[in-house]
Amino acid sequence: MAALAVDIMTPERRVLQTQADSVVLPAADGELGILSHHAPLVAQLHAGQIRLRLGDKVEYFAVSGGFVEVQNNRVTVMAETAEMAQEIDVERARQAAERAKAELRASSGTVDIAQAQAALLRALARLRAVEAARTRRPSIR
Ligand code: ATP
Repeated sequence: MAALAVDIMTPERRVLQTQADSVVLPAADGELGILSHHAPLVAQLHAGQIRLRLGDKVEYFAVSGGFVEVQNNRVTVMAETAEMAQEIDVERARQAAERAKAELRASSGTVDIAQAQAALLRALARLRAVEAARTRRPSIR
């Protein structure tokens, strides 16, 4: 039997409700690995990948920020946006990255720069999730 009940939600939709043996998340201060009997916690998430392992199967997701709560072997992710690797539109993410880079080159105000940087990090997180799913790297231990 799987160790963890995992729920990934955004304001728009429930992205996934499943079981996993382990979960790795992009916490603000580095990768956060969750196994069964993890201590309760709430942590902030940055743009990056979530990896779920169940047996031999690994699923990859891109998230763009939010929070994770761990309690009683339940992992609840409340993300600003989240997509399973298979549902990511690569061309759209490439274009978003190019747009953000062009904005960074052109922008002068700090607000513009912060927004363009955030957009670039979201796009890169999506592209990396697709790449990781393609190469199945790295697998969760
Ligand atoms: P874009 O400029 O392409 O809209 P974005 O980073 O500004 O990218 P978000 O505001 O983060 O987009 O997301 C808006 C919605 O679109 C969310 O539901 C998100 O899951 C979805 N989304 C964004 N980019 C992609 C993508 N490349 N593939 C699939 N869904 C995406």
